[in-house]
Amino acid sequence: MADGNISRGARRRPIPEGERRKVWVRSGGRCAVCNADLMEGRLTRREFALGDIAHIVGQHQTTGSPRGLADLPADEREKADNLMLICGGEHAEIDRAGSLDVMTVEKLRKLKRDHEDRIRYLTGLAPDRSTVVLRMVGRVRGNAVELTRDSATTAILRSSNRFPDYRLCLDRHGIEIDLRQLPGEPVADHRYYSAAKAAIDEVIDHKLAEGVARENIAHLSVFAFARIPLLVYLGSRLDDTIPTEIYQRHRAGETWDWPQTAKASDFLVQSPTSLSGASEAVLVLNVSGTIQLQELPVNLLGLPTFVLQPDGDLPQPDVMASRKTLQAFETKTRWMLSGIEAGGKSIQRLHVFPALSLSAAIVLGRVVDPHVHPKLVIYDRTPSGYQPALEIR
Ligand SMILES: [Zn+2]
Repeated sequence: MADGNISRGARRRPIPEGERRKVWVRSGGRCAVCNADLMEGRLTRREFALGDIAHIVGQHQTTGSPRGLADLPADEREKADNLMLICGGEHAEIDRAGSLDVMTVEKLRKLKRDHEDRIRYLTGLAPDRSTVVLRMVGRVRGNAVELTRDSATTAILRSSNRFPDYRLCLDRHGIEIDLRQLPGEPVADHRYYSAAKAAIDEVIDHKLAEGVARENIAHLSVFAFARIPLLVYLGSRLDDTIPTEIYQRHRAGETWDWPQTAKASDFLVQSPTSLSGASEAVLVLNVSGTIQLQELPVNLLGLPTFVLQPDGDLPQPDVMASRKTLQAFETKTRWMLSGIEAGGKSIQRLHVFPALSLSAAIVLGRVVDPHVHPKLVIYDRTPSGYQPALEIR
């Protein structure tokens, strides 16, 4: 960076590079007098090093060196403590003979100290980048997947600018909901769902709630593998005031990372032409697969039916390949639910058939607002066809 100091004759020594750097950093690249950004031109907005490094006590102990007669050893005059970063015009002004009686050494030291203290304070305000890990580990038709503390940690470090925080729990595994030991998963009847809901409630109502109250959880990272209705239920139990990132297991590579550069897919909704006083409706979510309408329970076949599916893409298991796609799903689901709420206040109950990716199922539970939306009945496919698994109230 160019030395902007006004020339004060041939005896002028260059300021050591290390001291110059200290002054620039301590000053935050800004003028210690007026706070102007000295790394960018005001006219062109281009990057220049426009700051001057000014001596508080002059470089030489002579009357020709501004404030040079003040008491300071020669070797300390080139140190960062005696230097301040300021605008060129202000530098010229403080060094003029006519300003020396007011722009004194004490006055300049105070300006420098106040500015540098403020920069240190402001740049010390690090945002809290920690995140608490919530893992729900279950089975789907007898199968389990790798969802250890380590795989969650790796996914967070690779896909976000956050750091996992495992303080909450004595076993240092974060918050874990383990559904693997619950009997009856392959059949998945109402007893299984009741037991699984109770296991989820137990952790959410105690461990997570205590963590929020005691440790002031600022961010949550959610990893879950279980039957889709349980993922929707988990989503509905997450506090929507805590910023939350939901992770997706990708079949390719069997990882939980969100890829940094994956294309975003959008979704479209086919709505029924009229809700005309209906108290119940059907929502078919064709995201990870396609549910044939003729497979739905016969008693629902005449109801107004909404169908959500990828826009310009076929439903398939790897649709949820990026965060942006999950966000698009969330946006479209919110839009659809508020449309149902606005267009058919009479709808009390929405029968939901979810062919959903894991992450999308949790998002569905999160976007449902029990105060304004109809009750959701989540169906699951069993050997005897689609059966109501649980309700989101
Ligand atoms: Zn300035």
